[in-house]
Amino acid sequence: MDFGSLITYLDNCNIKYDINENTALLVSIRVGGLASIVAYPDTIEKLCRIIKFVNNKFKYFILANGTNTYFCDSFDGIIISTKNINNIKLDKNEIIAECGASLTGCAVYAYEEGLSGLEFAYGIPGTLGGGIYMNASAFGGKISDVIKECLVYDVDKESIYTLCNKNLNFSDKCSIFVKEKLIILKAVLTLDKGIKADINKKMKTYMQKRISTQPLDIPNAGSAFKRPKGDYASRLIDEAGLKGYNVGDAQISKKHAGFIVNNGSASSSDINKLIKYIKNEIKNKFNVNLEEEIIYVE
Ligand SMILES: Cc1cc2nc3c(=O)[nH]c(=O)nc-3n(C[C@H](O)[C@H](O)[C@H](O)COP(=O)(O)OP(=O)(O)OC[C@H]3O[C@@H](n4cnc5c(N)ncnc54)[C@H](O)[C@@H]3O)c2cc1C
Repeated sequence: MDFGSLITYLDNCNIKYDINENTALLVSIRVGGLASIVAYPDTIEKLCRIIKFVNNKFKYFILANGTNTYFCDSFDGIIISTKNINNIKLDKNEIIAECGASLTGCAVYAYEEGLSGLEFAYGIPGTLGGGIYMNASAFGGKISDVIKECLVYDVDKESIYTLCNKNLNFSDKCSIFVKEKLIILKAVLTLDKGIKADINKKMKTYMQKRISTQPLDIPNAGSAFKRPKGDYASRLIDEAGLKGYNVGDAQISKKHAGFIVNNGSASSSDINKLIKYIKNEIKNKFNVNLEEEIIYVE
């Protein structure tokens, strides 16, 4: 693909970019090959401009903090990173945050303002945009509980508008953004006044649980599979005796059977083979169809 016109456009718009970037450095599981271009718009306006420019012309992918995502060996397109679009501000008991703001950063901000409701998000390593896309959840809380509305860019209509919570079609690990060509620009989160000491205590407890149950010292992408109805993927994988099973350096974590870890030099195809193996085993042993939560980008 010829990226000359795109590079000229990025230069003219004063948008930072890298050419032939190693995608493994952009995702928490540290696998993947080169991407032709990675662009880093630093405002919502620049984000919309690039998307408008590349839509229907180039292959593109919106990447936030890459904590649920990995790329193929060669991505012949443009990755648009939202990481530099991350302002957070307060309006009474509401937080207004841009898509690239970190979930943990939003949780800390809420705590500092004495606002409760985001404690569950403390320690989730993704961004608000990624969290809304996936309806991130933990310890009984979920993003859909606190989102009042989202400002979105409609890629095909080339327009910006606001969608309120009920129109975001939130469900378990899903939202309207999974199915529609809409980009999350910013969101308003409605929180409750709380007692700072209580908020802090909850956040610390949740972080302790993460540290004691998750393989945080080895590259991973969080839970590899969604929860099957009425059960946990990790429970099934554990009961199938698969903990520690590996394909090359891709391994089912010995600490948490729901996580796949990269012990050093795993490739995306190692991860894909391991996922296929796990799904087959769980289907054969329990007649359950596991569905990936982590996102593979080709
Ligand atoms: C150690 C660890 C622990 C984790 N714990 C949890 C947990 O407790 N609960 C939980 O739910 N998840 C957890 N995760 C998974 C992950 O952090 C979340 O799913 C998070 O919401 C993903 O955010 P991200 O910014 O990294 O998204 P990315 O991985 O960068 O992107 C995920 C998807 O969102 C889309 N996206 C991102 N931004 C936008 C945008 N602005 N507009 C439209 N689409 C967008 C991307 O295109 C992609 O399809 C964990 C991951 C790790 C590594």
